[in-house]
Amino acid sequence: MSVNNLFIIGAGFMGMGIAQVAITSGIKVTVNDISEKRLAEGRKTVETMLQKSVKKGKMTEQDMQKALSNLSLTTALSDCNDADFIIEAASENEKIKISIMEEVDKYAKPDAIVSSNTSSISITTLASHLQNPSRFIGMHFFSPVPLLSLLEVVKGLQTSQATIDRTIAFGEQLGKVAIVSKDEPGFIVNRMLIPMLNEAFILIERGIGSIEEIDLGMRLGLNHPMGPLELVDMIGIDVELAVMEVLYSEIGDPKYRPAVLLRRMVAAGNLGRKTGKGFYIYHEDGTRTPNIHLL
Ligand code: NAD
Repeated sequence: MSVNNLFIIGAGFMGMGIAQVAITSGIKVTVNDISEKRLAEGRKTVETMLQKSVKKGKMTEQDMQKALSNLSLTTALSDCNDADFIIEAASENEKIKISIMEEVDKYAKPDAIVSSNTSSISITTLASHLQNPSRFIGMHFFSPVPLLSLLEVVKGLQTSQATIDRTIAFGEQLGKVAIVSKDEPGFIVNRMLIPMLNEAFILIERGIGSIEEIDLGMRLGLNHPMGPLELVDMIGIDVELAVMEVLYSEIGDPKYRPAVLLRRMVAAGNLGRKTGKGFYIYHEDGTRTPNIHLL
């Protein structure tokens, strides 16, 4: 049973990325946000991305117009009432997501699947705010959504097998490859990635290698496209700390203790590329140099 009508909540970076993929797959998409401005900006971003694809010869002008005609915008959450599938991709805040779930439950068709793109909030917890938690599931996309083909499908304690199967099939409809994870902090990919990045902070703290040696080690030795320190600068040092805190508090194992240097860098406002300084200092001419004050 393919999805014809998708409702996305949150017109941010992820919500619009998912919308772009869905409209180009021929699915009718309605995007909801509390902010008219975010909705307008979101549509503009999708238009710009599709125009780039036309310029590169990846799609025709006609395909682009057809895709854009599949996109609608609304500030009314009640417009989810005719969707087959709902993806919540609003801000990463448990209270916001719970209040959205309580509203969605009032309007969604009884057989619609309700999902969340949350990175760190428990799927089982969010599901408990629906009358029928068996239709709730995690759909964790990777950014940028149009480029990365992985989809983590996260099953809560009460998610039914039918919901899992329909979600995997919907992922395929979007051209994604699904892996299924239990509802534990970090799911599969971030459960490995985030502690690995934390370990790179510890290597710096102990002077085991220099910033450039650690990055070069993982790029050349393991063929990673980016080293851990340049990657964490891109993700945001504050985001790394927030996820480590969730792993540490929810699992309680000392192996998830955030590195002291990680806390200090956040306290200092050295958050990576977005503040111009993390493990590297980013210069106005586009070059970067290692932040030797950390050593
Ligand atoms: P974002 O800040 O770019 O967008 C969030 C949007 O949600 C904003 O436009 C905001 O106006 C809207 N919003 C807030 N409250 C709302 C409400 N009550 N109803 C409707 N819209 C509301 O955030 P993002 O980076 O797109 O992240 C969205 C979700 O995706 C989060 O749960 C995040 O953890 C998850 N996620 C993010 C990434 C990433 O790389 N950014 C990757 C995977 C998953």
